Amino acid sequence: MDSSNASASLTAMRNLPAGRRIELTDSTGHVWTGSIVPSHALSGPRIVSLKLESGYNVGVAVDEATTFREIDDPPSPRRPEPRSPSARAMAVDDAWIALLTTGGTIASRVDYETGGVRPVQDAREILAFYPELESSGSVRVVPVFDRLSENVGPADWLVLAQRVVEAFDGGTRGVVIAHGTDTLGFTAAGLSFLLADLPGPVVLVGAQRSPDRPSSDGPSNLEAAAAVARDRRLGEVVVVMHAGLSDDRFAVHRGTWVRKMHASRRDAFESRNGPPLGTVEGGTVHLLPIVRGPGPGPARVEGPIDERAGLLWFYPGLTPERARGFSEGLRGIVVAGTGLGHVRSDLIDWIRSRTQAGVVVAMTTQCLEGGTDPFVYATGRALVDAGVLYLDDLLPETAYAKLVWALGRATAPADVRALLAQDRAGEFLRRHRPEAEV
Ligand code: GLU
Repeated sequence: MDSSNASASLTAMRNLPAGRRIELTDSTGHVWTGSIVPSHALSGPRIVSLKLESGYNVGVAVDEATTFREIDDPPSPRRPEPRSPSARAMAVDDAWIALLTTGGTIASRVDYETGGVRPVQDAREILAFYPELESSGSVRVVPVFDRLSENVGPADWLVLAQRVVEAFDGGTRGVVIAHGTDTLGFTAAGLSFLLADLPGPVVLVGAQRSPDRPSSDGPSNLEAAAAVARDRRLGEVVVVMHAGLSDDRFAVHRGTWVRKMHASRRDAFESRNGPPLGTVEGGTVHLLPIVRGPGPGPARVEGPIDERAGLLWFYPGLTPERARGFSEGLRGIVVAGTGLGHVRSDLIDWIRSRTQAGVVVAMTTQCLEGGTDPFVYATGRALVDAGVLYLDDLLPETAYAKLVWALGRATAPADVRALLAQDRAGEFLRRHRPEAEV
């Protein structure tokens, strides 16, 4: 079917069911071949959303010169048509996985009126955008939040942990959590400490580009995350994202080792101090032997948490007065110090006063590689003498998440310190990857 009238063409295309394949020739003569994905009510009046063969979703502007024709050949097996919710429910078997959605770019679409990005509305919309999610089995979507991740905090980690446990109690093989990338590392670390006895993987995944944008990484990231969530060798919290600029290679990062290293690149996430736990290539999951295997279950949440924890980034102008204001009401402070774990000398007395008042003060490093060591310089020794606990090679954000958890689990400062010093989720890199030692 050809059409030379823009609005008739647009209406005809919009009336096609989601998943129908078309070949669209735009006004520049460019030919787009792909499946219809639903257009949001707020999409521009002349935009048609297509999922291309590559898995990218793209919004194509339609005008008088646009033509299209339906294609009869079946979609590629790796890109199945979205099933109806009832069909999905009937297809549930022991291989179903849960997809918890929290918002973020991965669950957002471009709002063509404002030019911004807004969250998708419901589970159906997610599956319509990401039909490849179900290419390896059934997925149950559980919307949890509808937020950009800068608005996801420690109390939300607890809610998510509870939903993870409910999913495992319900028989899921694994859990995927779609999350904004900005604080994805914090949530991954928080869940690593809160969850115990995981019988399967918990996989956090995000996207740097929304699903209706060209070159969105959401579809391929989700597909890789789903493959990892089905992997029977894994029983820990991980993050799966693009490993490079290729669309067929993804990294599996331990939840306590990972950091967003780039504001916009698709391969923004990197494991610190060494290679990731594994990769997904061509749909196959490769894992290093150091991965934590499934526990006996049932999965448990080991809370509660206490948010009277702070993360203090040292900078040369940080005076004791400024630090004092920051620490008001806190039971614990993680300091991101310089180099091996240092702060300026006039802060040391203030830190001593805090530890003597029962506040737990722990040291990490702002450096992205290596760890802290208090016994190289006099400053480190003085900080240990002032009661500072050195946390080896924990990322500051991982140490903060652990502190939130440890303060909830223990009351006495000595007990909180003992929890912080113990390895719980494979978070101390050098104890697990001696080859990462520098
Ligand atoms: N700042 C938002 C968030 O982290 C959007 C970025 C993203 O999803 O990657 O949720």
